[in-house]
Amino acid sequence: MNYSEELLQLKTNCSKCSGLCCVALFFSKMDGFPKDKKAGQPCNNLLDDFRCKIHTQLEDRNLKGCIGYDCFGAGQHVTQCIYQGKTYRDLTNQATEIFDVFIIVFQLYQVRYYLLEVLTLDISSKKKERIKDLIIENKKICNYFPNKLLSFNLNTYKDKINPVLKQICSQFKNNKKVPTIF
Ligand code: SF4
Repeated sequence: MNYSEELLQLKTNCSKCSGLCCVALFFSKMDGFPKDKKAGQPCNNLLDDFRCKIHTQLEDRNLKGCIGYDCFGAGQHVTQCIYQGKTYRDLTNQATEIFDVFIIVFQLYQVRYYLLEVLTLDISSKKKERIKDLIIENKKICNYFPNKLLSFNLNTYKDKINPVLKQICSQFKNNKKVPTIF
């Protein structure tokens, strides 16, 4: 497993997405987004080509929510791999499904990010192998068909991952490199 290549897959590429985070998620003005918005409703600033109309002004407008949000590449995976380049605008009947899939895949990508972070720590090769197996499994789950993703039990999955991460991190209590547990 090549760490840099794995990490590269978690780099957000908005040009390959369809503005999923700016539509699928609920957000509020209080959290640094332009206004209160329901999940599934596009942000008013989202353009027809899925770019942000005010992208260059986010900092000046103090839109910390927009600036800080990171989907870890889940958006481009959902758009390009799961729906093969089709967006919720092409598949209007499936829009809600696409948003729900994105929310699940985003959480899976977040877990993968933490697992990759743990690989950078000075841990035994046995533990590294365990983490690598979990990453391989995570990637497999991310490629499930939508119906299988929608019925995937994220809580059970997190209950499996969390103790592994916690156990490793307990070794590095005073080390700043320890990843945040979700
Ligand atoms: S302001 Fe731009 S980045 Fe923020 S949610 Fe709206 S479209 Fe997305």
